[in-house]
Amino acid sequence: MKLQDLNIVVIGAGIGGLAAGALLARKGAMVTVLEAQDYPGGCAATFSRNGYCFDAGATIGCGFHTGAPMETLGKELGITWPVVPEAVAWQYRHRALLFDLQPNRLDILERFPHSAPFWAEQNALAKLLWHFSEGGLSWPVKGAYSELKRAYTERVLDVLSAQFPDARNAIRSITAATPVTWERYTGRVQGCVGGYPQTSLFKVRGPLTRFDNMFLVGDSIFPGQSLPGVVTGARRTIELLLQRNAKVGSQQP
Ligand SMILES: Cc1cc2nc3c(=O)[nH]c(=O)nc-3n(C[C@H](O)[C@H](O)[C@H](O)COP(=O)(O)OP(=O)(O)OC[C@H]3O[C@@H](n4cnc5c(N)ncnc54)[C@H](O)[C@@H]3O)c2cc1C
Repeated sequence: MKLQDLNIVVIGAGIGGLAAGALLARKGAMVTVLEAQDYPGGCAATFSRNGYCFDAGATIGCGFHTGAPMETLGKELGITWPVVPEAVAWQYRHRALLFDLQPNRLDILERFPHSAPFWAEQNALAKLLWHFSEGGLSWPVKGAYSELKRAYTERVLDVLSAQFPDARNAIRSITAATPVTWERYTGRVQGCVGGYPQTSLFKVRGPLTRFDNMFLVGDSIFPGQSLPGVVTGARRTIELLLQRNAKVGSQQP
């Protein structure tokens, strides 16, 4: 069957569904994306409340360097990402502690020299994953939920107020999110975020399902979470879909 004759339905307009849908549409397939919310993006969406914009989850853009998944995706889809490189990846503040986490991690290594082996291993793993990419807790019953949510919100506000004494008076809008919120807005079972449990590379899930014409996409399949991870996974899904379609085509009389 020609790709142009394929009707593809993508369920969920998260980065995984959007990337797979857009790539397939570029190749000529007819694509319909269904999304439960009235805005796209899922865990990487921006939503507004009381006139303020909030990031739902993803805040750090990575994988935009040359040859990396986001850059390649942009090229293929004709999108120029408005990327501005940041010299400081993270800034950590707690009382008198202030770290600038730079790409070379000098600041953190100076303060915690014993952490060097950890960072070396993290670097090696990251390098390996970039290389590849270039090619429950049971939840409280309803009655207790609101109280627990309020208590957690207060705890967060206490921490904030300890650092910024006037914080409470300056707040104009509060939105607290829990795993239940995640489940409500993203459809993730028990609000589980973060992809598959990264315990063994041999146990991870791939795009195939027991149905010939149904595939998985998103951060529950290898290589998992993050925008570049999900985009790389979407490519795997498309490759398998195209292979399977070619096989079906060759078997038809
Ligand atoms: C708090 C947090 C911080 C993060 N920070 C970063 C970061 O800084 N950088 C980074 O790269 N990554 C980050 N990530 C990871 C990244 O956001 C996710 O891996 C990625 O966005 C997941 O995309 P997805 O397409 O797999 O799923 P999702 O984003 O969950 O999208 C699934 C979509 O499907 C919809 N849906 C579900 N069920 C249905 C249904 N039955 N019918 C119709 N629609 C449905 C949902 O509404 C949702 O829009 C973060 C994640 C979280 C949770």
